Amino acid sequence: MSARILNGVAIRDQIYAELRQEIAALSDAGIRPGLAAVLVGENPASQIYVRSKIAACEQLGLGSWLHTPPSTVTTSELLAVVADLNARDEVDGILVQLPLPPQVDTKRVLEAVDPAKDVDGFHPVNLGRLVSGRAGLVACTPAGCMEILRRSGIPVEGMNAAVVGRSDIVGKPMALLLMHANATVTICHSKTRDLPGVVRRADIVIAATGHAAMIEPDWVRPGATVIDVGINRVTEATEAQRIFANFPAKLAQFREKGFLLVGDVHPGVAEVAEAITPVPGGVGPLTIAMLMSNTVKAARLRRGQSVSTITTGAAAAKP
Ligand code: NAP
Repeated sequence: MSARILNGVAIRDQIYAELRQEIAALSDAGIRPGLAAVLVGENPASQIYVRSKIAACEQLGLGSWLHTPPSTVTTSELLAVVADLNARDEVDGILVQLPLPPQVDTKRVLEAVDPAKDVDGFHPVNLGRLVSGRAGLVACTPAGCMEILRRSGIPVEGMNAAVVGRSDIVGKPMALLLMHANATVTICHSKTRDLPGVVRRADIVIAATGHAAMIEPDWVRPGATVIDVGINRVTEATEAQRIFANFPAKLAQFREKGFLLVGDVHPGVAEVAEAITPVPGGVGPLTIAMLMSNTVKAARLRRGQSVSTITTGAAAAKP
């Protein structure tokens, strides 16, 4: 039986509709939330990501500013850009697109962002708030995964969850959000013993490893929900053949386009799981939606206002 597809685009649109109402109410009060993006150099993937974030701001009527320092920028020059954005009252959110060039001290730059404007949720102050379950700005991708679960009516409380990947921006905050929502969480990584066995025990599987189609169908328990965070560009014909051997339509698409976007979950898992996010069109749209949500949330928190359920990000989390 084929899994129910958890459509990230539809959930994003639902969140945008709610945000539009919130933004209109703020506008009536003379407030226009705004996001400043810092895009260093000419990395094509980063350019696409930042462009779509700015486009989302425009679509929702949020203010937006783009700063594009050259790839030769120094740490102190970037710190000056961040300090300027911290000081500007009309800027509610600051987004420093990663990766930064090797000569830049990334941690120093991220830690220089005012935690009140840290809409990516990367600052240690916001991570600390997440650890202790207090309201703050939560990393967008894991917050988006929680919204998918919540808005799809998938129960989390009491479930066994396996988070495969322990990065600071996805795996760790994801595990904390699931734990606050009362799941029993196992965090897996490259040194985990018997990873298939651990994943097989999970009711909810979050895949965030950066390896195309790594989670195989026989790793997944029938009835499980699978959230595929991975976005991998497959360009090698042999790899496409390995992954899509049983999916002729996908192989035809690959031959036509020369590449395919593939998650960290094998497409055959959709035959086993109860529910699954597609790639593309699953978690990706939610990451941008939660960035917009965090920008609105930052605008309200900075002005001492309370925040509504969607803009808490950690909506399913226990306070
Ligand atoms: P990352 O920083 O490279 O972390 C990858 C994690 O996966 C690490 O913790 C690593 O373990 C673990 N891992 C790697 N190989 C493994 C293996 N064979 N078995 C078990 N664990 C393994 O990646 P990330 O930034 O978290 O991103 C993960 C994926 O999500 C990528 O595909 C990325 O493109 C995607 N992503 C998507 C969005 C979105 O909006 N959809 C946003 C962010 C990221 P160790 O710690 O032991 O090395």
